[in-house]
Amino acid sequence: MKKEKKSENNEQMEKIVAFCKRKGFVFPTCEIYGGFANAYSYGPYGAELKNNIKKLWWKHFVQEREDMVGMDGPILLNPRLWEASGHTEGFNDAMVDCKKCKKRYRADHIVKELTGEDMEGDLAGMTAALQGGLKCPECGASDWTEARNMSQMFKTEMNSFDGPVYLRPETAGAIFVDYKNVIDSMRVKVPFGIAQIGKAFRNEIVARNFIFRIREFEQMEIEYFINPEMAWEDLFEEWLQRQEAFALAIGAKKEDLRRYEHPKAKLSHYSRRTVDLEYNFPFGFNELFGLAHRGDFDLNAHSQATGVKLDYFDATANRRYVPHVIEPTVGLDRLILTAICAAYNEEVVEDETRVVMKFPYAIAPIKIAIFPLLKNKPELVVKAKEVYDMLKSEYMCEFDDNGNIGKRYRRQDEIGTPFCVTVDFDTLEKDDTVTVRDRDTMEQSRIKISDLKNFFSEKF
Ligand code: ATP
Repeated sequence: MKKEKKSENNEQMEKIVAFCKRKGFVFPTCEIYGGFANAYSYGPYGAELKNNIKKLWWKHFVQEREDMVGMDGPILLNPRLWEASGHTEGFNDAMVDCKKCKKRYRADHIVKELTGEDMEGDLAGMTAALQGGLKCPECGASDWTEARNMSQMFKTEMNSFDGPVYLRPETAGAIFVDYKNVIDSMRVKVPFGIAQIGKAFRNEIVARNFIFRIREFEQMEIEYFINPEMAWEDLFEEWLQRQEAFALAIGAKKEDLRRYEHPKAKLSHYSRRTVDLEYNFPFGFNELFGLAHRGDFDLNAHSQATGVKLDYFDATANRRYVPHVIEPTVGLDRLILTAICAAYNEEVVEDETRVVMKFPYAIAPIKIAIFPLLKNKPELVVKAKEVYDMLKSEYMCEFDDNGNIGKRYRRQDEIGTPFCVTVDFDTLEKDDTVTVRDRDTMEQSRIKISDLKNFFSEKF
């Protein structure tokens, strides 16, 4: 369901975009060339955050489960796969142009924005609505082209292959084509799932709302294979709850999450149920996760296209069948945006505004910052470096000796570092203790250097 609103006038969003650039989380890419296609790079802290979210997802959905395995397939796949899945023919979005100012829109987005009606997929209906007098938000004219479909598939070519090749528009395809290899090489038993994290590419008509809608993004997808005769309703609910639990684990608040049940009449013919988990972004509630029961559509389509049987022998049920799949999917970039929006806090401390990113510890880009009290006292610097060297093999740490301690605390608060460790004169002269300061409570305690590892292993 597509329903984002324009973000241009959204103050909170503007603040977050500027913050992300200033603090090294997310940069508009190719800025020195004037930018490119509303695409973004993850800066040093953004890359850490991204890796931490991936690791946490893998831990939740693969490492801690006996019924899940992972894989990692290519971006360029045999294009016959996309014919069989229906993407070559039918993976389209509708676009429409204002003839006067030439601004291009996603037709269903602009109709929804102007009328509140969801007409996705209904080209004639959208054309009639727009040409019936709706005004272009950019120039105020009512002079529209017809709404027409545009493929979202990115085409490329390969020297060793005749005809177009596509950058995958979703990662799921790579799972289905290797489903048989997984069954043959692993000791998996239905029900089981295959998880994958990787890039997907969609030629979106309009990329917008920062990293929410981009053309090159990462997906974290699972295909969960089940016996077609099993009662799937409880399992579906369990997956919904697992997705919600993961959103909470990266910092989303419960009240900012809601479910959107796709109406039966709008479901694909093969789907029994589809529910989106939406997050309340500064531009409104929008899809973060999707969960779909896809029946045996995919395995059957690939089986028909290749002539290869993709069934499974269920020793417990003593019969062969083509499994049905439940597909939990999420966009990594949308999770990153969720984590950033949820963590961003402004607090007034001693008449000053402190920006603090309250990331859950597991995803904080830097876990511990280490400071010598003064930069021009070599004995403090040497000791602080020793502490840094002791901790850095286990935790992502940062050494900072720039500016006064108050400023260093603020800098670490802004990037969400849970703990700061300061080496001062008492460390050297008295008892080998350091000050450990907590990001959220701002409380400070003295801890012996020899106890630091234990202290942090309890905290993290
Ligand atoms: P939307 O309705 O927002 O376009 P969709 O229903 O087409 O999304 P799916 O095909 O279900 O999306 O893709 C799975 C997940 O991939 C989505 O839940 C979303 O988190 C993510 N995703 C899809 N398109 C994009 C995009 N252009 N940029 C970033 N993430 C995306």
